[in-house]
Amino acid sequence: MPYSLAVIVPAYNETEVLERFHARLGAVLDTMDTMDAGATVIYVDDGSADDTWQIIDRLAQADARVAGLRLSRNFGKEAAMTAGLDAADADAVVLIDADLQDPPELIPELVARLREGNDVVYATRADRAGETRFKKFTSAAFYRVMERVSDNPMPRDTGDFRVLSRRAVAALRELRERQRFMKGLFAWIGYRQVSLRYQRDARLAGDTKWNYWRLTNLAIEGITSFSVAPLRVATWLGLSAASLAFLYGLWVILKVAVWGDPVRGYPTLLVVILFMGGAQLMGLGVIGEYVGRTYAETKRRPLYFVEDRRGATRPFTEP
Ligand code: UDP
Ligand code: MG
Repeated sequence: MPYSLAVIVPAYNETEVLERFHARLGAVLDTMDTMDAGATVIYVDDGSADDTWQIIDRLAQADARVAGLRLSRNFGKEAAMTAGLDAADADAVVLIDADLQDPPELIPELVARLREGNDVVYATRADRAGETRFKKFTSAAFYRVMERVSDNPMPRDTGDFRVLSRRAVAALRELRERQRFMKGLFAWIGYRQVSLRYQRDARLAGDTKWNYWRLTNLAIEGITSFSVAPLRVATWLGLSAASLAFLYGLWVILKVAVWGDPVRGYPTLLVVILFMGGAQLMGLGVIGEYVGRTYAETKRRPLYFVEDRRGATRPFTEP
C-alpha cells in the first residue's frame, strides 16, 4: 500500500543550520523505502530576518521533495507549525525542529510505530543534554503543575517532535483557537497516542529563541488554555480570606462586649486591608487573564498569513 510522508520544519532565523539539517534529513528520507508515495519536506519560514527563505528557495530548486511557506511576519512556532499542518497532505506527518535537536534519524522508527496503528507517536526525551540544571528544574515543575491542573494532561518531557496520522492532522486542523498551546492540543484530540524514548541533543548552532520571559508566558498560556483551576484558586483564596476576616470580626466584638477591651490595633487593620487588597487584585488579574483570552478568541483573526510559497503542498484556502 502506498504510504506518503510529510515533514514539517518551522524555521526562524536558522541560516546557520538549515542546510546541514536538510542534508541529514534528506539522507534519512533516502533510506526510507516505504515512501513509495513520496515524501515532502515543508519548510515554514516564520518571518525570519536573515537568509532563511533564500536557503529554502535554493533547497526547493535542488530537491523536488522540498516545499516552502513563508509567513508574512514572525507569528511564533505554534503558528508556523499550524501553517505546515494546513499544507501537509500525507499519511504520516512529522513535526521536527530545524536546529537538529530532534534527530531526523529517529523518523523511520517514529513512522514504524505509527504504522502499527497509532495516530500520534511522540518522541520523549530521555535526557536533556546541554540544558542548565535550572531549566531542567523549571520544566519539570511546569509539567508537574500541568498534570495537576489540566483536565487532560499532556505527556512529560515531550517537545513537538512527533509523527501524526492523517486523521490526527485533520483533527488538529479543526482547532483554530488563537491561544495555540500545541502540546496541549496534541493531547486534546485523543486517538491512539504512544511515546518513543530518545536522547535529545544540545542545539547544534545558533541560539534558542526561548528565553525565560517567553517560556514563562508559554507556561501561563499552557495552564490558562487548558484549565480553569486558577479561577478556582482565586475563589478559594477569596473565600478563606473572607471567612478569616469574619471570625476575626467576631473575636473583636466579643472582646469589646464581654471583656470591655478598648478597640486597639492600627497595625492589624493595615495588615488585613493590605491582605484583602492583594487578594482582590490577584483575583482580578486571574479573571483578566481569561477575559483577555476570550477577547483574543472572539476576534477570530487568522492564525498566520502566507507571503510566498515554493513547491507543491496541499491546496488549502489561505486563512
Ligand atoms: N521557531 C519558529 N518561530 C519562532 C521561534 C522558533 O518557527 O518564533 C522554530 C525554530 O526555528 C526551531 C524550532 O522552532 O526550528 C524550535 O526553536 P528553538 O530551538 O529556538 O526552541 P527550543 O529548542 O529551545 O525549544
Ligand atoms: Mg531548539
